[in-house]
Amino acid sequence: MRKPVYLDYAATTPVAPEVAAQMQSCLTLDGCFANPASRSHLYGWQAEEKVEEARLQVANLINADSREIVWTSGATESNNLALKGIAETYRQQHKNGGHILVSSIEHKAVLDVVAWLEGQGFSVTRLAPDSRGVVDPQTLESNVRADTFLVSVMHVNNELGSINDIAAISRITRAREIILHCDAAQSAGKIAIDVNKLGVDLLSLSAHKFYGPKGIGALYVRRAGDIKVASQIHGGGHERNMRSGTLPTHQCTGMGAAAELAQQYLNSDAQRIGQLREQLWNGIADLPNIRRNTAKESSISGILNLAFAVNETQGCDGETLLLSLRALAISSGSACNSASMSPSYVLKAIGLSDAQAQASLRISIGRYTTAEEIEFSINEIRTVVNQLQKNRVNT
Ligand SMILES: *Cc1c(COP(=O)(O)O)cnc(C)c1O
Repeated sequence: MRKPVYLDYAATTPVAPEVAAQMQSCLTLDGCFANPASRSHLYGWQAEEKVEEARLQVANLINADSREIVWTSGATESNNLALKGIAETYRQQHKNGGHILVSSIEHKAVLDVVAWLEGQGFSVTRLAPDSRGVVDPQTLESNVRADTFLVSVMHVNNELGSINDIAAISRITRAREIILHCDAAQSAGKIAIDVNKLGVDLLSLSAHKFYGPKGIGALYVRRAGDIKVASQIHGGGHERNMRSGTLPTHQCTGMGAAAELAQQYLNSDAQRIGQLREQLWNGIADLPNIRRNTAKESSISGILNLAFAVNETQGCDGETLLLSLRALAISSGSACNSASMSPSYVLKAIGLSDAQAQASLRISIGRYTTAEEIEFSINEIRTVVNQLQKNRVNT
C-alpha cells in the first residue's frame, strides 16, 4: 500500500537530512558525545563548543544575543517556564493579586498553564480574536488593568495559521511596563522573527516545528530590562539558573542546524509552500459548502484550515471525512484535540458553529511537499466529498 501523503507539518515536521547528519556526529564515542558541563577534559570542552555554536544559530534565527537563549525540552516547557517563572517572581514582589492577559486561541501549553495559575490566585482574562483568528491590539489595550503584569499572545496560531501583530501589542505592554511573552512555535522558521522589532520579552521556540528533532526547544529571555524568570526545574543551576539538567548535545546541535537551514530557506520555502496552498485551494474551492477558515492574508503559507459544511443538513462531519481521506495524513482541528470529539475552541472562537467546527480539517504543507502530492490530494478530497454528499442525499 502506498503511504499516505504527509500534510500535517503543523503537528510536526520530519528532521531535515542535513540536521540528522549533524545530530549523528554527537552520539557515539568517536563523536561529540560528552557532557557539555564537563570542564576538566577535551571531550567536555568540545561538547560545550557544539552547544554554544547551536545556541548562536538559534539566537540568529530570531536576531537575539546567544546569552538570551535558554534550552528547554520544547515549546510546552518554554511556555511553562515563561509564564510560571514570571508569575512566581511577581508573587514574591507583590504578595497577592496580579492579572494575566492571554488570547483565547493560545495553544493548550499556554491555556492550561494560565488556568493552573488562576487556581493559584492570579486572575486571567482570555481575549477572543477577530473572525480571521487575529487578536485586535485595541481590544487588548482596553482589557489591560492596573495590576496586569503579563501578556501572552502567540505569534502564529497552530490551527489557522493566522499571524498576530506582536509589534503593535508590544507598544501597549512596553508603555505600561507589562512583560510580553510570545509562543512562536508555529512562526519560527516560517516567517522572519526579530525579537527587537517584535518587542517581546520572552519567546518560546520548538525545534520539531522547523525540521529539527522533537524534545528540544528554547526560551528567549530578554537581557535588557528586569526580566526575572524563576526556575521551574531545579538541580545543578544550568542555563544561568533558569533550567537545570545536562544539555543534550545532539538535540541542541540538531536545533541549531535546523535554525540555520530554516533561515537559509525562509523566503524560498514560504513562497513555494504558499503556491502549493493556493494550488490546493483552487482545486477544491468549487466544492459545495466548502469554507476557507484560514484567511489568505495575515496567515503563514503552510496552513489551510477548511470547513466542509455550511449547515447541519448539508455537508459531512469531520470524523467521517478524516476516515474516508485515509490517503492523506491530515488532522481534524488540531492534533492536540483530535483525541477528543469536542469541536475546536479555536474554530468556535472565530465564529464557527459546533457543526462547522466539527466538519473542519487542517491541512498543513511543508518543505518536502510536491506539486504532484497536491494534485493527488485535490483528487482525493473531491472524490471523497462528492461521495459523502451523494450518500447523504440518498439517505
Ligand atoms: C507545537 C506547539 C507547541 C508545543 O511544542 P512542543 O515543542 O511540542 O512542546 C506549543 N505551542 C504551539 C503554538 C505549537 O504549535
